[in-house]
Amino acid sequence: MSTWPIHPLRGGVHPAEQKTLSNQTPIQNAPLAQQLIVPLLQHLGSAAEACVQVGDYVLKGQLIADSNSFISAPVHAPSSGTISSIGPQPYPHASGQPLEAIVIDTDGLEQWCPLEPITDFYAADAAQLLSKIRQAGISGLGGAGFPTVVKLSPNAEQPIKTLIINGTECEPYITADDRLMREKASQLMLGIDILVHILQPEHVLIAIEDNKPEAIASVRQALNNRSYQVVVIPTIYPSGGERQLIQILTGQEVPSAQLPAQLGILCQNVGTVVAVHDAIIEGKPLISRITTLTGQALQKPMNVECLIGTPVIELLTFAGLQHEQLNRLIVGGPMMGFTLTSLAAPVIKTTNCLLAATAAELPAPPVAMPCIRCGDCAQVCPANLLPQQLHFYALGDDHAQLQAHHLFDCIECGACAYVCPSSIPLVQYYRAAKADMREQAQKLAKAEHAKERFEFRQERLRLEAERKEAERKARAERLARSKAEQAKKAAQANNATEHAPAGTSDDDIKRLKIAASMAQVALRKAEKQLEIHGTDALKEQVEQLKTNAAHAQQALAAATSSASTAPATDKPAKPEPSAAEQALKKAKIDVAMKRAALRKAERSEADAATLAALQAELSQAEQSLAQLNQSSASA
Ligand code: SF4
Ligand code: SF4
Repeated sequence: MSTWPIHPLRGGVHPAEQKTLSNQTPIQNAPLAQQLIVPLLQHLGSAAEACVQVGDYVLKGQLIADSNSFISAPVHAPSSGTISSIGPQPYPHASGQPLEAIVIDTDGLEQWCPLEPITDFYAADAAQLLSKIRQAGISGLGGAGFPTVVKLSPNAEQPIKTLIINGTECEPYITADDRLMREKASQLMLGIDILVHILQPEHVLIAIEDNKPEAIASVRQALNNRSYQVVVIPTIYPSGGERQLIQILTGQEVPSAQLPAQLGILCQNVGTVVAVHDAIIEGKPLISRITTLTGQALQKPMNVECLIGTPVIELLTFAGLQHEQLNRLIVGGPMMGFTLTSLAAPVIKTTNCLLAATAAELPAPPVAMPCIRCGDCAQVCPANLLPQQLHFYALGDDHAQLQAHHLFDCIECGACAYVCPSSIPLVQYYRAAKADMREQAQKLAKAEHAKERFEFRQERLRLEAERKEAERKARAERLARSKAEQAKKAAQANNATEHAPAGTSDDDIKRLKIAASMAQVALRKAEKQLEIHGTDALKEQVEQLKTNAAHAQQALAAATSSASTAPATDKPAKPEPSAAEQALKKAKIDVAMKRAALRKAERSEADAATLAALQAELSQAEQSLAQLNQSSASA
């Protein structure tokens, strides 16, 4: 018998159980479907990204979509075959919206990819084991499907003291965990051993409701001297909720907006623990799960081990679906499940039950009546909420009040709606309000993010402008200093010239003119800089440049007057041309002029007589030039 003290669950209900419908036979292997539809998102968090293409052949267990964020999980091929499409496919969700999926046309060979187990997991460290669990794509198989590696990686400052293995399975129809504990207790124990090796908790509690005596016996037998405690708890719905189970086992209440890990407590579903066993000991990724097929519209209700991606219709057919009897198909149990609209949707990692209910089994709820404020809902709420108030605020879209009344602590167990005499579908209101509030929060976060980005950009631009202005000023000052330096040098050169002896040469005057001109240019530039910046340094430079320019001008004036009074230099006189040379020059000019006149007449298409006359004049001039050239050569 368990010696662990337990605490009564606050609230809760006792819906009629229908577990014997499906828990009487061993788990069956579901037949391999011709097509497997493997969604890229099968858990809380971000979708994985496909790493295969249409036409690729994949092996069973091969990675087909990898996770690219912390809260995500990789996806593997459940069987060997060829990728026939990647795109939107029916998806098991209350919204009925399709979702991206990889479709595999199976080849029936079930060829595994190479597997890499860690059989001696005690020789591996926690990081290696966590990495393997991440690679195996394991997410919680009991509820929302949170990626397991995220839950197993709590804050180092808050070690896990209590590890809770959740085998409660409180929904009235579901028996998947019951059969798993009966048939896979040894794998469950090894899986717990692995978690214990990773987390090193002080206590390990395996919680099972007292309506599963065979599972309790099987798990106890598999304990085999381990110090783990099998804690049998009373059957009441929803004792399997994470926070509710923690309260039952420890008496502690996980505060709103906190995680159990912050109290040093970690909860894992039994199915998830067996998946951890399969990943570490056998090297197998999560490609299948145990799903309860139940409801009175099935001839052979049972639990099946089915491949992820198997279309729901294939499983229901395997369980003997009587189409004419089927009134409502629910994914999950009748308390927390949702109605599935497409039978083509596949089983995903969180699909723990398919309930094919007849009209008599789950009759349509009566028309909702106004709330009579009886308070029954508050009595049964395991989260200690005020369901009628939440309903009232949800009707009025009063998000502030919904927040203040802790709507997000609602686990959507449906206990309040179950007891409501007015048949108000309370959970539907809460789900819609939560979705609305999440959407608004996302919009707000987006707007905040955009505002932050805008402000960051403005600040960056301001700093950039400041930097550029500082650089420009530094450049201007450097330039002014350099000009002043040049002008100073020019002035020094002028001063040297100023004291040069009288009789300055033309070259000296040229140099002084250049120096005076440069001094003027430097002065004008500095004056412009002074106009723009008006700094004291520039003012000083301008004064200096004015002095330099005046000196340069004086030096030039002195040199010019000195040159005009200096005696003429002894340049050789140019000889006068002789009469013969002058005649030759004249004859050359004459020939050139006559030739030009002829060309002009030809271009203007003058008459033949004119052209002949001009040609004759040119010939005569050429003859005269030839004669003069001859006599010049013989002289
Ligand atoms: S149980 Fe129904 S009728 Fe009674 S208070 Fe709650 S919501 Fe109103
Ligand atoms: S308010 Fe939420 S947690 Fe409380 S009983 Fe209703 S569904 Fe359950």
